[in-house]
Amino acid sequence: MASGDSVGEPAAASRSCPGTFARAWAKAVSGTSYLPMTQVQLETLLQRLTERLATGLLAEPFDLRIGQQVGAELVAAHIASAEGLGRTIEVIELRLLRDLGLVADDVEDRMARLLAAVATGYARALRDRTLDEQESIRRAAMIARAQAERALRDSEARFRHQATHDPVTDLPNRTLFTERLAAAIDEPDRGAERVGVCFLDLDRFKVINDSLGHQVGDLLLVTVADRLRRILGEHLVARLGGDEFVILVQRTGCTDDVVKVAEAALAAVSEPALIAGHELTVSASIGIVERQVAGTNPVELMRAADSTLHWAKAAGGARWSLFDADRNRRDLARYALSAAIPTALDRGEFYLDYQPLTSLRDGTVLGMEALVRWRHPELGVLRPDSFIGLAEETGLIVRLGGWVLAEACREAESWSADRAAAPFVSVNLAVRQVHRPGLVQEVRGLLQRTGLPPERLQLEITESTMMSTAEEPVRALRILADLGVRIAIDDFGTGYCNLAYLRDLPVTELKVAGEFVAGLRATPVDPASRTDERILASLVSLAHALGLTVTAEGVETAGQAERLRAIGCDAGQGWHFGRPGPARAHPRPGPLTLPPRWRRPPP
Ligand code: C2E
Ligand code: CA
Repeated sequence: MASGDSVGEPAAASRSCPGTFARAWAKAVSGTSYLPMTQVQLETLLQRLTERLATGLLAEPFDLRIGQQVGAELVAAHIASAEGLGRTIEVIELRLLRDLGLVADDVEDRMARLLAAVATGYARALRDRTLDEQESIRRAAMIARAQAERALRDSEARFRHQATHDPVTDLPNRTLFTERLAAAIDEPDRGAERVGVCFLDLDRFKVINDSLGHQVGDLLLVTVADRLRRILGEHLVARLGGDEFVILVQRTGCTDDVVKVAEAALAAVSEPALIAGHELTVSASIGIVERQVAGTNPVELMRAADSTLHWAKAAGGARWSLFDADRNRRDLARYALSAAIPTALDRGEFYLDYQPLTSLRDGTVLGMEALVRWRHPELGVLRPDSFIGLAEETGLIVRLGGWVLAEACREAESWSADRAAAPFVSVNLAVRQVHRPGLVQEVRGLLQRTGLPPERLQLEITESTMMSTAEEPVRALRILADLGVRIAIDDFGTGYCNLAYLRDLPVTELKVAGEFVAGLRATPVDPASRTDERILASLVSLAHALGLTVTAEGVETAGQAERLRAIGCDAGQGWHFGRPGPARAHPRPGPLTLPPRWRRPPP
C-alpha cells in the first residue's frame, strides 16, 4: 500500500541527513509486521542501512550486492512483509536522494537499479527464511516423531521383556522358551541339525519352601538361576515355573554335548548356597533329550524331556537321565493301561484269585490271600505287578482296592457254609487306601453288608505304610484291630521296620518276605543257608515275644516248609501249598493237606 501521508513528508533537513530519512523510513514500516525491537532500535538499524544505501548508490562501479544486502538485512530484522517492502521501496524512491542531498549524473538510473537490488535481496532472504522455517519445522517434526517412536519402542521392549521373562529370576519364561524352541525346530533350513533339551527340577524344593518360607525359596531360585545363566551363558536357560528350569542346546553334534551341559548344570546347582543365613545344599534331577530336528516337534520333545526327568527323579534324584524310546513306549503302554482301569471295573474285567496261608503246625488252611487279576480283552489275563504300581501312582488304586476289598469280603463270607473252621481272607491294602480318611467306615460298612465276622478279615499293609509318621493311618488301623480285624505286615524284612517299633502298633501278624525263605532252598549244610535260617529263627522268636504270628511267603518246596516249621514259623504261603487260583479250587482245611512228616509228634 502506497501512502503519501507516511512517506511523502517534507524532509526535515535539506542536506545529507540520514537520521531524518531513517526516521521517515521507520515510520513508514512500523506496523507492517511484528517487530521484536523498540522504535529507537529500529531507527538505529535503518540509519545504518540508510548509510549503506547512500554508499551503494554512489559506489563506483555500481554494486548491486549492497542493495541486496540491505534487502536481506531488513528481512533478518523481521521487516518481512510485502507491505513493509512496498513502503521501503516507496520511501527510498521518494526521499533518499532528497534527504541525503545526493547528486550524481546517472542518479535516476542508479536509483532504479538500487531499488531493484533491494527488492531482489529482500525476496531472496524472505524465500530463504521461509525455507529455513519450513526446514526447521520439518526437522522439529522429525525429532518429535523419532522421540515418540523411541519411547514407543522402549515401552514395547519393556512390555515384551515383562511378557517373556520370569519376574523372580529374570530368566526367559515359558513363552520365550517355547518361541525359541519352535524356531530351533520348525525353521525349514534347520532340518539337518540336532537339538537338545535339559529339563531340570530341583530335588525336594518343596521341603525348603515349606520349612524356611517362600522368601528363602525364591532367593534359592534366584541363586540357581544366576549360576545356570553364568555357566551356561551360551545356551538359552529358562524358568518354566516353580522349581523347573529348562536349557535349550542348539546345533549339538551328539548326545554327549547335552550330557556335558547337564553335568555342568548339576554341579552348579549342588554348590552350597548361603541364603538368608541358611547354608542350603540342594540337588537337581535332569531329563535329557537330544535328537535330530527333522521328524520331531516342540510339544513331543518337551513331553519326552518331562518323562525323562521323572525317570531321574524315580531313580533317587541328583542325576540326569537320557531319553530312551523303548522305555518311553513301555511307560506309555502302562499309562494307557492304568487309564483303562475305571472302565475295566465298570465292565467287570477284574477278578480275584486266592492263595492259601497254611498252618505249619497242622496243615490247616488258616487264611486265603486275595490276589487281583485283570482279564484284559486284548492283553489276556494280567498279573497285578503290571497295573497295581501305576494304579497306586495315579490314585486309581483307591477305587480298584475298594472293589477288591468288597469282593473278597463277599466271597469269604460264603466259605463258612462248606467249611467247619472257615479261613480268613487276607486283602492287600495300598498306602493310599490306608491313608484315606474313610477307611474305617468303609471296612465297617462292608463287614455289616456281607456279614463277614471281623476276625475273618486280614488287612496286609506294607512296612512303609506302617512306618509313616502320620498318626491318622495308625489310629484307623487301631480302631479296626479293636473291632477284631487282623492286621498283617506284608513283605516284612524288605523295608526298614524294626520289631520294637511294632510293639506299639495294632499288628497281629508278620508276613516274612519270600527273599528270606529263598535262602532255605539250599541244602542245610550250606553256610549261607544256615545263616538265613538263624536270622529267620531269631525273627520268629522275637515276633512271638511281641505276640505276633509269623507267615513265611514264597514257600516253594517241602524242604523249606519243613525247616520253617522246625524254627517255629506259624504258617506258610507259596506254591508248595497251592498256587493262586479260584477259592473253591483250594483244599478243604484239615491235617491231610500236610505230608505226614510235617506233623508234630503227638504230645
Ligand atoms: P504279595 O502280596 O507279596 O503277593 C504274593 C505274590 O507272590 C503273588 O503274586 C503270588 O502269586 C506270588 N507267589 C505266591 N507263592 C509264590 C511262590 O511260592 N513263589 C513265588 N516266586 N511267588 C509266589 P501276584 O499275585 O502277582 O501279586 C503280586 C503283588 O501284587 C502282591 O505281592 C501284592 O503286593 C500285589 N497285589 C496283588 N493283589 C493286590 C490287591 O488287591 N491290592 C493291592 N494293593 N496289591 C495287590
Ligand atoms: Ca500280600
